[in-house]
Amino acid sequence: MEIKITQQAAKHIRHGYPLLQKRDVLDSIQENQWLDFVDKQEKLVAKGYLGVQNNGVGWCLTTENRPLDHAFFVELFFQAKEKRYNYYQDERTDAFRLINGAGDHLGGMTIDKYGDFAVVSWYNQTLYNKQEEIIAAFTEVFPEIKGLYEKLRFPTEAAQSRLLRGVSAPEPLYIKENNLFYAIYLNEGLMTGIFLDQREVRDLFAAGFAKDQDVLNMFSYTGAFSVAAAAGGAKSTTSVDLAKRSRKKTKEQFAANRIDLSSQTIHVMDTFDYFKYARKKGLTFDCIILDPPSFARNKKRVFRVAKDYGELIEDSAAILNNQGIIMASSNAANVSSKKFQAMIETALQNQKVDYKLIKKFHLPRDFAVDPDYPTGNYLKVYFYRIEKS
Ligand code: SAH
Repeated sequence: MEIKITQQAAKHIRHGYPLLQKRDVLDSIQENQWLDFVDKQEKLVAKGYLGVQNNGVGWCLTTENRPLDHAFFVELFFQAKEKRYNYYQDERTDAFRLINGAGDHLGGMTIDKYGDFAVVSWYNQTLYNKQEEIIAAFTEVFPEIKGLYEKLRFPTEAAQSRLLRGVSAPEPLYIKENNLFYAIYLNEGLMTGIFLDQREVRDLFAAGFAKDQDVLNMFSYTGAFSVAAAAGGAKSTTSVDLAKRSRKKTKEQFAANRIDLSSQTIHVMDTFDYFKYARKKGLTFDCIILDPPSFARNKKRVFRVAKDYGELIEDSAAILNNQGIIMASSNAANVSSKKFQAMIETALQNQKVDYKLIKKFHLPRDFAVDPDYPTGNYLKVYFYRIEKS
């Protein structure tokens, strides 16, 4: 089936841009089938599909005139696997991303490897309806995967998480990252216990970046950064997360690495309450890790990275030792690197401290980014050294 798009969109797509917005589509939006996108002269622009998701209404998979069939997906998965050859060779790490949506020419889905298992995430219904065909190609290219789970990340009545193929993973499943272990649960809602896109940042801590330091890990989730910092010789770690589950999960991660709990503190608490508590008690830190969700609502307030990140920075600067480090991280796709940096630096200026940006991380290579779709590189991790006069 053919569908007409605007000349403007046709131009961008011919240059490689993969995502379609509502305004780009001239005919009525037909979901749930593979489509040929054509220009005004009815010449083929790209092949793909329309499927509404949070950032657009459809994806172009190829500008070549070829069927989007089994052979197409097999080829695509082979290319993705080849791209990750170095990850397969690295015996210290067995969890990484296999398919990163548009970065692997397959906008609308991701697949992560956790040891011998994998998790596929679907971001729209249309691609999900092609599940059989896509998964058949996947299992052909990745026969070593013993069990495949799926997560449905679009509005649906169906279960958000389930085992799709093969055998169940142990609970927890211990994955290895840079020779540290993390306890993973592949069938507990949408999250698994670790965010693989932060691997290189954890590696930095594990290699001793915060050696002999007192580290505060805000929005700590399962404490992965605390584990890496402690393994890298941090004097103490303090993990703060509002979710009740975080205490048990964080202890489990420390235990998996035989890290003595006596220098590790875990608080189930709101971050902003913790800042007040720390000020009252006179607690200070050498390194503060800030990695909040893009958006969070609790009983007291709503937190949005795009509006409230500066407040986190100001509160952190207040309890940081001289020459201390703030690690400011965000995965908010709606906040550009430039805006993020400006928010942080304005807050530091408000606090009247001197600062130096000493390190920057974006997505690691397994989270492949399409150069024509740079907004796909949503991760920003900036390290600042703070000078207090
Ligand atoms: N930094 C973590 C991932 C954070 S996920 C890591 O690297 O693994 C976001 C976490 O923020 C969730 O665990 C959630 O419970 C927590 N959270 C959300 N709002 C919060 C708040 N106001 N105070 C403390 N934790 C919060």
